[in-house]
Amino acid sequence: MKSLPFNIEDVRRWAEDYPTPFYVYDEKGIRDTVTALKEAFSWNEGFREYFAVKATPTPAVLRLLSDLGCGFDCASVPEIMLARCSGAEGHGIILSSNETSRTEYKAAYDAGAIINLDDYTQIDNLERSIGCIPDTICLRFNPGAFGTSNDIIGHLYDSKFGMTEEQLMAAISVLKEKGVREFGVHAMLSSCSLNEDYYPSLAEELFSLAVRIKESQGVSLSFIDMSGGIGIPYRPEEKPVDIRAVGAEVKKVYDRLLVPEGIKPAIFTELGRFITGPHGYLLTSVIGKKHIYKEYIGVDATASCLMRPAIYGSYHHITVPGRENAPSAGTFDVVGSLCENNDKFAIDRELPELSEGDIIVIHDAGAHGHSMGYTYNGKLRPAELMLMEDRELKLIRRAQTVDDYFATLDCDNDFIDARSRL
Ligand SMILES: *Cc1c(COP(=O)(O)O)cnc(C)c1O
Repeated sequence: MKSLPFNIEDVRRWAEDYPTPFYVYDEKGIRDTVTALKEAFSWNEGFREYFAVKATPTPAVLRLLSDLGCGFDCASVPEIMLARCSGAEGHGIILSSNETSRTEYKAAYDAGAIINLDDYTQIDNLERSIGCIPDTICLRFNPGAFGTSNDIIGHLYDSKFGMTEEQLMAAISVLKEKGVREFGVHAMLSSCSLNEDYYPSLAEELFSLAVRIKESQGVSLSFIDMSGGIGIPYRPEEKPVDIRAVGAEVKKVYDRLLVPEGIKPAIFTELGRFITGPHGYLLTSVIGKKHIYKEYIGVDATASCLMRPAIYGSYHHITVPGRENAPSAGTFDVVGSLCENNDKFAIDRELPELSEGDIIVIHDAGAHGHSMGYTYNGKLRPAELMLMEDRELKLIRRAQTVDDYFATLDCDNDFIDARSRL
C-alpha cells in the first residue's frame, strides 16, 4: 500500500483555500531523497547531483534542491534562467541538449555552464555560436548497444542521442588542440529503470571508456556524468531502488577500473524522476459518475494536468484519503473532461465507494507531471503547492487564469469587447 504524508483533514482544509485540481509536493520527502543520494556517493570527492530541471521546473522546488547542494541539468534558455534564478551559476549548470540552438549555447556560456556536446558536428556549431570553445567540455556517448547483467535494456542504434566512440575520440583530439583542459563524458542509456544494476552497468561502460580515453588521448577525465534514468515504484507492488546499495556497487567498479589507472573523476548524476517523482501528488475532485458499458468516475483534472497515463499508458496509484482501508466498490475508469478517449488516469481500477465532491490523490506526479502539462481544450494549468517540513502549505505556482490563456493571443478590439461582456 502507498501511504500519504497528509490526511483527510489536511486535504479538506487545503481544498477550502485552493480549488482542485492542484499539485502538492512534500518538502521532507525531497530532502530525504537528496540526502540518501548524497550519502550513497559520499565516497566520491566531487560527487554532485544535477537535477534535471524538466522534471519539476518550479523555482521553489529548484531552490530547495540548490540549498541541498544540487546543480541543474538544463536543455533550453528558460531552464537555464530557472537554474540561475534558483541559485546556480557556472559549473553548477550543465547544458545537455541535442540540436542545440545558438541562443542556447550563448545562454549556457554566459552562465559559465558546463556544455555537454551531443555530437561531433556540435564543436563547430558551439564555436560559431559563442566565438570560442570553453576550457571545460562534456561529450555525450552512445555505445550503440547496452545491457546489464540482469537484463538487456536494448540496443541504442535508433537512439538519437550521443556520439560513437570513434567520434568521441576524434572530438577530444580536436578539442585538446582548441585549448580544452577539462573533459567529461555523459550517457543516459535507460529511463525509469528499477534495475539496481543499471548504474553499476553504466559505470562499467563509462569507466572503461575513460581508461581507453586515457590510453589513446592521454586525457584523464575530470568528471563522468551518469545522467538520469533511475526509476521509482509507480505500482504499489514494486520495490524502490536502494540508492545506497547502488552507490556502493558503483564504487566497486570505480575502485576496480579507475583507481589503478590513476584516474579520479568526479561522478555526476542528473536524476529527475528519482528525486521529486514520489514526492508530488495531484489532488482532484470527483465531479461525476457514469454507468454505460463500464463504470466511470469523472474528475476535475484532465490529462492536461498529468499526461503520463494518456501518452505512455503509465500506471499512477490512486488513494482516497480517509478511505485507505475501505472495501473495493468495483472497478472504475477514472476520467477527465478532454475530448480525447485517452484522457484516463486509471483503467479498470479497484476503488472504494466514491461520491461527488470526494477528493482523490494521484501518486507519483512529482516529476514529468505538471511540467508536461498543456492547455488543450482550453484547460488551464493547475496550481502547485509545497507542504513544508513544518506542515505549512505554501503556494509555489498559482493556477493559470483565463487572462494568462489569452495573454499570447492577438485578439481584436471587438473580441475584447465581447469578452468583457461575458
Ligand atoms: C530527462 C533527462 C534526465 C532526467 O531523467 P529522469 O528519468 O527524470 O531521471 C537527465 N538527463 C538528461 C540529459 C535528460 O534528458
